[in-house]
Amino acid sequence: MLIHGFTKTTLLDYPGKVAATIFLGGCNFRCPFCHNAPLVLAPEQEPAFPLEEILHFLEKRRKILDGVCISGGEPTLDPDLRSLCRSIKALGYPIKLDTNGTDPGLLRGLAGEQLIDHIAMDVKSSPEHYASLTGMDGPDLDRIDQSIQWLLTDPLPYEFRTTVVRELHTEADIIRISQWIVGARAYFLQAYQDAPQVMQPGFTAYPKEEMEHLCDLVRPAVPSVRLRGID
Ligand code: SF4
Repeated sequence: MLIHGFTKTTLLDYPGKVAATIFLGGCNFRCPFCHNAPLVLAPEQEPAFPLEEILHFLEKRRKILDGVCISGGEPTLDPDLRSLCRSIKALGYPIKLDTNGTDPGLLRGLAGEQLIDHIAMDVKSSPEHYASLTGMDGPDLDRIDQSIQWLLTDPLPYEFRTTVVRELHTEADIIRISQWIVGARAYFLQAYQDAPQVMQPGFTAYPKEEMEHLCDLVRPAVPSVRLRGID
């Protein structure tokens, strides 16, 4: 398998844990605000990290790290994801998986085999605007909905998250998302942050006051809502 990025230590990627993060390439979405455009569009041109070296690093760091995050791109597209999880689990680490939720069957399978311990699922927008927010003509909303409905049954720790882009999200979108994930145990509204490798440059974030207002709009359906990425 090809690993296209590795963060040796982070306090940000796995809630409550000192973690390392592994990035897998490729994605079935083309979100215009994606921060990892090269990883999504041309993963074969990205540097590759040998798996053996990463596993060796994780083995040596067992006293310092207490979790591993697998991110992307979209990691559920990688046919070797299950074996990667097994190798990491064999070292004793809990695993958090970042996903866009397009493979509910795989998520259920990995959780059922206790190969993942935490899921962070992006909810890109309201169902009505999923196509434009993911850059796809016909994103499979049924699969997204299956992942959401399954996570809402609380099969393992999880969070939903939405990167809020001023030019792409309206108040109505955010309210509609909150109705879709009503009662979620954890939901984060993340302010868009510009980056050099963004898929489509030129987007901006809502100011803090507006993000707080969006939180207020979400709270009746999702009391757990919090902001992330706001100073
Ligand atoms: S934001 Fe996530 S789902 Fe969207 S293109 Fe980038 S990696 Fe894929």
